[in-house]
Amino acid sequence: MFVGVTVLVGVCTAVCPAAEVYDYSPREVMNTVQTEDDDLLEDLLKSDKIWYCGQCFSCKTRCPRGNSAASVILALRRLSVKKGYFAESEKGRQQLIAKRIFGQNMLDRGYTLLAKNITPEHFPELGENWEYYYEHMAEMREWWGVPMDLENSPGSHRQIPEADMQELRAIYEKTGAIALMDAVEQGMEKKLGSKAEVEKYWQTWLETADSRDYEMPNS
Ligand code: SF4
Repeated sequence: MFVGVTVLVGVCTAVCPAAEVYDYSPREVMNTVQTEDDDLLEDLLKSDKIWYCGQCFSCKTRCPRGNSAASVILALRRLSVKKGYFAESEKGRQQLIAKRIFGQNMLDRGYTLLAKNITPEHFPELGENWEYYYEHMAEMREWWGVPMDLENSPGSHRQIPEADMQELRAIYEKTGAIALMDAVEQGMEKKLGSKAEVEKYWQTWLETADSRDYEMPNS
């Protein structure tokens, strides 16, 4: 990927919301990429840094050189997953959660996120109203006239026709998205040592809503 001239101005970092909350700088990422130093690049691909970006693209719209740190970071993430380096960092390992929720939902239902995934335990900040909705989801949707899982019904959670789902899965196959999802499972298994450990990591997140509660083998 071409990165136009250097990015010494640092506007990307100045406008970056992720830089406000993490030890993170898109300018630093871009500078590392431009070194073309294999060791530095490998360290970057194994680090948490490439996973801090929220893909808001503010850096792209403000860069006076027309560079897009957001796009470079996307390419780095893809490479990190392909090479299995993502499993070396705590934020990188969270790709398993993303894959099993967003990725699997897309393949099964045609949505990235379903209300059933937004549990009150995992999102306590949504408060009591959400807790009530979560517990009474099916009946409330009937009451609103947007029932769940019905083909051709309005709104989210409608059932996508099977022919469309097959088309969607074929796109995921052709574009390499499914191969990337498989690479996430394989990379995690390699890093954690077994499929059973990968399941333990997943269960830990399901139970505590914090993947940092998982204890790495040999840590
Ligand atoms: S796309 Fe990423 S790097 Fe760019 S401003 Fe948003 S969070 Fe920062």
